[in-house]
Order: sequence, then structure tokens, then C-alpha cells
Amino acid sequence: MLRVTEHGPVTRLHMARTVFGRALYPVSAYWVDGLLIDTGCPGTAPQMLAWCRTRPIRQVVNTHHHEDHAGGNGLLQRALGLPIAAPPGAVPILAHFPRLQFYRRLVWGQPGNVTVEPLGNTVETDRYRFEAIPTPGHSPDHVCFFEPRQGWLFSGDLFIHARVRYLRADEDMGATLQSLRQVLKLAPRTLFCAHAGMVEDATDAIRRKIAYLEELAQKAHVLQRQGLPVEEISRRLLGPEDQMARITGGHFSKTNLIRALLLT
Ligand SMILES: [Zn+2]
Repeated sequence: MLRVTEHGPVTRLHMARTVFGRALYPVSAYWVDGLLIDTGCPGTAPQMLAWCRTRPIRQVVNTHHHEDHAGGNGLLQRALGLPIAAPPGAVPILAHFPRLQFYRRLVWGQPGNVTVEPLGNTVETDRYRFEAIPTPGHSPDHVCFFEPRQGWLFSGDLFIHARVRYLRADEDMGATLQSLRQVLKLAPRTLFCAHAGMVEDATDAIRRKIAYLEELAQKAHVLQRQGLPVEEISRRLLGPEDQMARITGGHFSKTNLIRALLLT
């Protein structure tokens, strides 16, 4: 599935792989002034390619190496010969993509190996100039793309939701909080998130997310000092684990979020 929404000069490409007629965990890429930001997952790469043939695309960038953001790289590179740049930390991972857990292969598909260029500090199009802002935490290589004159922040997976309830097992919440505080200083007006879509009043949304995470961390620390184990703290603050943890074998869970917050 690929759904297209126009937000002025920015086009959102909302994609999900469909299995037995059900759209699985969707993700968005964005197109602006000939620049494609992220390429979706391998499972939706053919639809992405078909759409790309309808628009002028001069360059492609990735926010980070995850398969739902860089998974279309291979097909776009082979079919259209597009130049692709990714954060320096993502380049070696994309060149030798690790084999994914079963649920990730099912939901998104396994990316092949792709050689891409390392991103510089800025990305220029005819009309805009984007700063690549390192924002580690969700993954170590993660960057956001900020256009200062427009106040746009293409935030990859930094934001996702103001009140997240699940976390991947490998995320660093201390780094995420630092990255959120850093982008807050840029006072962005509009957020283009890979999962939440376009978020107006970006600064307020980021501020709310930081406050929520800080409050949750504080509550978790209080319960930890009372001697409760992390699973019990998670159950009390976020409720019992559900399908998400079961399907992903615990790779994506509420307990991961609490465990990561306790390290902050
Ligand atoms: Zn990600």
C-alpha cells in the first residue's frame, strides 16, 4: 500500500506492507523539491519505485539504516540510478545488512546490501537547504533534516509519538532525550515524522514528549528505589505487556521503555 498526501511543497508517502489484506506497521517517506527523504521498506519498494517514476527525483537521503527507512534504496538505485546518501554510521550497515528477526522480515522484508555515500552536513535542493542534525538514541546513526527558513524538521524516528509506550530493545533513551532537547533548541515549526506524519506546532509536541519521558523516568526511579523489578515497574506504569511484545519476541516492548528510562 502507498498513499500520497500533499502538504504544500512537501509530499508524504505513507506506506505499509499488506499481508492477508491487512496493512502492517506503516511508515512514511517524504518528497520535497526533488529530494526523497527515506525510501520505505523492501516490501513496498516496487510501489515506491512506481511513484518515483512520476516525479522528478534528483537525490535520496536516509535518516537512519532501519529497514523501514532505507529498505527501498536497493531497488531505487538499480532502477533509477539515483544518488543515495545516508548518515556515515549507516553506510557500513547498509553495505552488509544484518539478517533481521522473523517478525521484521515479515512486516518489512529483508533489505539487500547497498553501497551509498556518506551524508555531509547539509543537503541542498533548488529551493531549500537542509541541515543534517545528528540525533542518536533511536539508533546510533540517526539524523534529522532541518530546513531553518521553513522551520521544517524531517525527524525520522526521533519523535514517533508524544507518549510512546513501547521501545526497541536496542534504543538509548538518554541519547534520545538529549537529541530531543537539541532539536527543541532549533524551534521547528512543523515536524514531518515517519510515523505520526505531519505534526504542526512541532516545538510544543517535542516539549510534551520530553516532559512525558522525564515524568515516566522519575516514576520508574521511585518504584525502583522501593525494590521493584523492572517488569513490575513497567506493568504498574504502562499496564501489562500485550501482542506487541509477543509478536516481536520482546524486541519491542513496554519493559524495554522502562528499562531504558531507568538508565537515564
Ligand atoms: Zn527506526
